[in-house]
Amino acid sequence: MTRETSYTVIDPATEEAITTVPLASEEETDAAVARARAAFPAWRAMAPGDRARLLREVAAAIDAHAEELAALEVRNAGHPIGQARWEAANARDVFSYFAAAPERNTGRQIPVPGGWSVTFAEPLGVVGVIVPWNFPMPILAWGAAPALAAGNTVIVKPAELTPLTAIRIGRLAAEAGLPEGVLQVLPGAGPVAGERLVRHPGVDKITFTGSTAVGKRIMAACADDVKRVTLELGGKSANIVFADADIEKAAAAAPGGVFDNAGQDCCARSRLLVQREVFDRFMELLEPAVTGIAVGDPRDAATEMGPLISAAQRDRVASYVPQDAPVAFRGTAPQGPGFWFPPTVLLPPGPDDRAFTEEIFGPVVCVLPFDDEADAVRIANTTEFGLAGSIWTRDVGRALRVSRAVTAGNLSVNSHSAVRYWTPFGGFKQSGIGRELGPDALDAFTDTKTVFVSDDT
Ligand code: NAD
Repeated sequence: MTRETSYTVIDPATEEAITTVPLASEEETDAAVARARAAFPAWRAMAPGDRARLLREVAAAIDAHAEELAALEVRNAGHPIGQARWEAANARDVFSYFAAAPERNTGRQIPVPGGWSVTFAEPLGVVGVIVPWNFPMPILAWGAAPALAAGNTVIVKPAELTPLTAIRIGRLAAEAGLPEGVLQVLPGAGPVAGERLVRHPGVDKITFTGSTAVGKRIMAACADDVKRVTLELGGKSANIVFADADIEKAAAAAPGGVFDNAGQDCCARSRLLVQREVFDRFMELLEPAVTGIAVGDPRDAATEMGPLISAAQRDRVASYVPQDAPVAFRGTAPQGPGFWFPPTVLLPPGPDDRAFTEEIFGPVVCVLPFDDEADAVRIANTTEFGLAGSIWTRDVGRALRVSRAVTAGNLSVNSHSAVRYWTPFGGFKQSGIGRELGPDALDAFTDTKTVFVSDDT
């Protein structure tokens, strides 16, 4: 089989070709690993304050080019411009947040008889950051910034479909002064460059965000040489609305919890559980909130939802909504070129329905009634995933009980907002292993060394 040597990047809103990007071969991947290894000793040895200053320069460069990066993401990923601006700002903030880490990366002193035990948070070496297409800029930053702050060198492999902002950020980082080989962006195919990074003995850690199927393969491959691995995988999160909630507010917020990024969000609250006594009222309120979503040209600041990333993704999403699907109501979508799919609300027959159990990764939400608190928790936890979720109630005790009982890594009460760069993020169960962002993130890019020094020296 011949290897594809380049990839034509498509604008998902117009289906026009934007540009062609070369795809790294296995040999080119090996060369990138060699450069990263060569750069590691000096980067690790650099005074923490100097490393911090360079990371602040990267944040400043992203900030100075934020509008350009956002516009590029609008074209490449089809994200509405307002959302793309948030993504560029998030990448900036993540570099800026972790720029504060090098000087604070201290160890501990632990009293022991006969001497001193001290610990060091040692960088791992070369880190491979494998990024999906749904949030190219934030996920690049979530992996690369803490890894660099901890003293590792980094190779980012963006998704085939969305390499453009990653390539631009790589250039900006070099212009900002990061030494050669410290942060490389390597566009390539998953099974070629991605797989090579995973199996390369010169790569010490993989941080992967993507599908659960590929994540499982990567974890198995990493086991061969006990390579460190962080996985951020799929989700099928529940949005639980209790009868005692502010129903107007919950219904108004529900579309944003699942249809943001056209549902191509691992945290999408794609299972909407509504207590039976308020079910009809909730659906009445939900309908105009869904049919009123502005779906269309992502360049237009008024647009709330853009296209899906590709024709293949649109076909996959459509497979969950066949002719006889139990559609409650749908929003609109443009005709003509572009990978459009309308926001869609399904009333599945029960919790075993395929649309209710599988990650759709598109603008489709399944609504199901529940009887009481125990029933809600049982249905919410009937999934192999455990990434996020929301609980709508005015009862504080219930909010506490349910947020402890739902097996997911990121929960919100009376809100859908759960991701902040200064708080930990990650999944339970098959949604992943390890935590990104916040103070926990640095642990994922260091190994603790304990040194005992005898006082009889
Ligand atoms: P994907 O798994 O197909 O690809 C993700 C990345 O892995 C891409 O860069 C791809 O090139 C690479 N890859 C593919 N095969 C590989 C291999 N054999 N070895 C190494 N790398 C390989 O996923 P996708 O379709 O790009 O992204 C969508 C998925 O990502 C969804 O399932 C979604 O839930 C998940 N996701 C999870 C999170 C999270 O934080 N938990 C965030 C975003 C997306």
